[in-house]
Amino acid sequence: MRDKTLCVKRPQVSHEGFASLATPTYRASTIVFDSAEAYAKRSQRGPDGYTYGLHGTPTSRTLEASITALEQGERTVLVPSGQAAITVVFLSILLPGDSVLIPDTAYPPVAGFCENYLKPRGIGYRIYDPMIGGAIAELIDESVKLIWTESPGSTTMEIQDIPAIVSAAKARGVLTGCDNTWATPLYFKPLAHGLDFSSMALTKYVGGHSDLLMGSIAVKDTDLHRRLKDTMRMIGIGVSPDDCALALRGMETMGVRLAHSGQVATSFARRMAGLVPSGLVLHPALPDCAGHEFWKRDFTGSSGVFSIVIPPHAEDTIPDLLTAAKIFSIGASWGGTHSLLAPMTITRKASDDAHPGTILRISIGLEDENDLWADLHPIVASIAAREPIVRTA
Ligand SMILES: *Cc1c(COP(=O)(O)O)cnc(C)c1O
Repeated sequence: MRDKTLCVKRPQVSHEGFASLATPTYRASTIVFDSAEAYAKRSQRGPDGYTYGLHGTPTSRTLEASITALEQGERTVLVPSGQAAITVVFLSILLPGDSVLIPDTAYPPVAGFCENYLKPRGIGYRIYDPMIGGAIAELIDESVKLIWTESPGSTTMEIQDIPAIVSAAKARGVLTGCDNTWATPLYFKPLAHGLDFSSMALTKYVGGHSDLLMGSIAVKDTDLHRRLKDTMRMIGIGVSPDDCALALRGMETMGVRLAHSGQVATSFARRMAGLVPSGLVLHPALPDCAGHEFWKRDFTGSSGVFSIVIPPHAEDTIPDLLTAAKIFSIGASWGGTHSLLAPMTITRKASDDAHPGTILRISIGLEDENDLWADLHPIVASIAAREPIVRTA
């Protein structure tokens, strides 16, 4: 071989004895074949074969298999974001004339997708009260093909009665799915509770370091897996092996990160609940949280995100207190090592607007607990004051 060829062709080196604990990052667009015959038959390689980088590499398959094991499922697909994990499920199941039921407390872009993407294409949706439980049966008509759940609900933290919803759906042959980003399969196993799809924004706790975007969908049924893969292939989406390697690294520490953040978040929530009027702290482990009994029954823990309602008298003081926070950053995409505060405005369509106005979402990371409390204390004090704190210059 001449020099320019040597620049391109790689010599074979031995892998013998190279036993690393790290998962190698295999990058690929094209996959090459030993023979023209193998190439001609590439479509027969099945869901575990390799045919094109977009459809999987050993790195992405390792992440998929790790999530499948945690989810107690059969297969997992990886998509470029948590939002895509939801939309790919919807697109794989729903046809014109069909409809989907989504909870009022779903991650807000889900309703946006239904209204602005699905509806113009003839796919309907209905928003339901997250606390509906078995009464969801009354909303199931011939058009309903999928019931989506998210528990706890975004920002307002309601825990849904998943077994009741699943049994109503199964009685009518309707598929069900759950956005399990908050609990992760460490604290709630959607597939074991009868849901057909378990989705997660790996962007949050699995990635864990605020530096990657990815979503996963786990299933038990291999036919559903095929439908998800078909949709992804037709749309042309996949994930980067570099991001998969980051997610695999993040997952190794997820157990200890979640245990720590969850313990600090729960102790802060209890402390705050003792200082402010009742009902303002929204955390599934608090007895007055909507669905607390379902959390106790179905979940094995809680992660590091909870909320506190900002009453009208404190609204004006909050922006300055957020800006003054030294350890917390202001930002939305939670689940990392850095603690975050995010003021959220919530509007509800199918359930009571129990908390109009601003709700402060709190994500606990890995910083020192006392440093974090020093930031939260003035916020809690302004809420506890029950009237505007008048500052003297
Ligand atoms: C962040 C989040 C998503 C979306 O994840 P992205 O990767 O940011 O698209 C979906 N569901 C929940 C519950 C989330 O918190």
